[in-house]
Amino acid sequence: MNRPAETGTVAVGCSEAPVLRERGQREVFCGLTGIVWLHRKLQDAFFLVIGSRTCAHLIQSAAGVMIFAEPRFATAILGERDLAGMADCNEELDRVVNELLARRPEISTLFLVGSCPSEVIKLDLANAAQRLSVSHSGRVRILNYSGSGIETTFTQGEDNCLHALVPELPASADTSKSLLIVGTLADVVEDQFTRMLDELGIGPVHFLPPRRAVDLPPVGPGTRMLLAQPFLGETARALTARGAQLLEAPYPFGVEGTLGWLRAAATDFGVTAERFDAVTAMPAARAQRALGRYQELLAGKRISFLPDSQLEIPLARFLQRECGMEPVEVGTPYLDKQMLTGELPLLSESTRLSEGQDVDKQLERLRSERPDLTVCGLGLANPLEAEGLATKWSIELVFTPIHGFEQAADLAELFARPLMRRDRLIFSSCN
Ligand code: SF4
Repeated sequence: MNRPAETGTVAVGCSEAPVLRERGQREVFCGLTGIVWLHRKLQDAFFLVIGSRTCAHLIQSAAGVMIFAEPRFATAILGERDLAGMADCNEELDRVVNELLARRPEISTLFLVGSCPSEVIKLDLANAAQRLSVSHSGRVRILNYSGSGIETTFTQGEDNCLHALVPELPASADTSKSLLIVGTLADVVEDQFTRMLDELGIGPVHFLPPRRAVDLPPVGPGTRMLLAQPFLGETARALTARGAQLLEAPYPFGVEGTLGWLRAAATDFGVTAERFDAVTAMPAARAQRALGRYQELLAGKRISFLPDSQLEIPLARFLQRECGMEPVEVGTPYLDKQMLTGELPLLSESTRLSEGQDVDKQLERLRSERPDLTVCGLGLANPLEAEGLATKWSIELVFTPIHGFEQAADLAELFARPLMRRDRLIFSSCN
C-alpha cells in the first residue's frame, strides 16, 4: 500500500495526461437525482421540484423507499403554458408552496428545484424564491437551484444545492482554525470521522450539509475545507470566496485515500506524526485486512468507467492502487482538475481519461476492449450485460456509504460482487 507521505515519490501520474474530450449523445442522470440522498441528510428540508411528470417519475422511482415515510420531496407539475400564462404559473407555485408550508410546519428550508421543461425554464425561480421568502419571512428559508438535465448531470445537483446554501452560512470573523467537511456523508460515516478527528485533536469540526438545515456551519478566514466528494467545485469556490481555504487531499476512498485525506487536515492543524500514526494505525490495519478478501479477486481485472457520477477518478485510483485492477478507460462527465489535484498524480500515467460523452463512440471502444467490468448508468447496464459484459451501476456508489476506513472493504466488494456473480453464472452454465 502506498501511503500519502510517500506519494511525493510518485511521478505526475495523470496530472499532465492527455484527456479525450467528447461531446455527443450522453447517457447520464440529471441533477434531480441528488434529492434522493440530500433529503435523507437534511432532515428538516423539503425539495419541491418544479417540473413535469417525467421528473416526478424519476425521483419517485429513484427514491422508492420513501413510500413508508412522510416524504420530504414532491413535484409541482406545470402544464403547457405560453409566456402570457406565466403569471398564472407564479400564482400556482405560490399556492402549492403556501399549502405545503401550512401542512408541514416542521419544514425549515424549502428548495425550489428547477428542471428542463420549457415552461419551467421561462419561470424565474430565483425571483419566486425571493418573493416567497418575503411572504414567509421568519418562518422558513426558501432557496432555489437547478437540477435540470440540460444544465446538470447526476451529482451536480448536490453541488448546486450546497452552492445555494453558501450565502446563508453565518459569517465568522474568528481566525482560529475550524474544519469544514463539505459533501453529503452517511450519518454513520460522519460519526466515524468525527470520532477520529476528535482523537487527533482537530476541531471544531462542522459538516455541510449538516443534519438539520437550521444548523448551518459558520464560515470565515479560519475555515479549512476538506471535500468529501470531487463534484463540489462550485460550492468549494463559493466557500473560498467567503474566506475558507481548501485543503488539497485525495478523497477518502480506501485506506490510502482516507489516510491522505485525514493527513491533509492533520498537517494543517499541526498534529504530530506520532499522534497521527497512533490514531490511524489500527483502523487502517483493520481496513487493510478486510480489503484483503477482495484483492485476490480483483487483482489483474480490467475495468472501464463510463461517465456518470464524477467519482470515477478517485474510484479508479482506489481500484488500481489498492486492489490491483487495471483501469482501461476512466470516463467522467466533467473533469474539474482543481478538485482533483490530490488524485490525478496517484493514477497511473497509462490510464486513458475521457471527459464528456459521445455514447456510441464510447460503446464502440468498450466492445473492442471488453474489460472484465464496466461501471455505468442504469440505462446502459442491461444492454451491456446482454452482450456478455459484467457491469456495476454507478448510482449504487452514490447511495452506499463508501467513505472511510470502515467502508473500504465494502467499497471493494461492490466491484467484486458482479464479477463473482458472473463467475457463478459461467460455472452453472458449464454444468
Ligand atoms: S432530465 Fe429534465 S425532464 Fe428529465 S427528469 Fe431530469 S429535470 Fe426532469
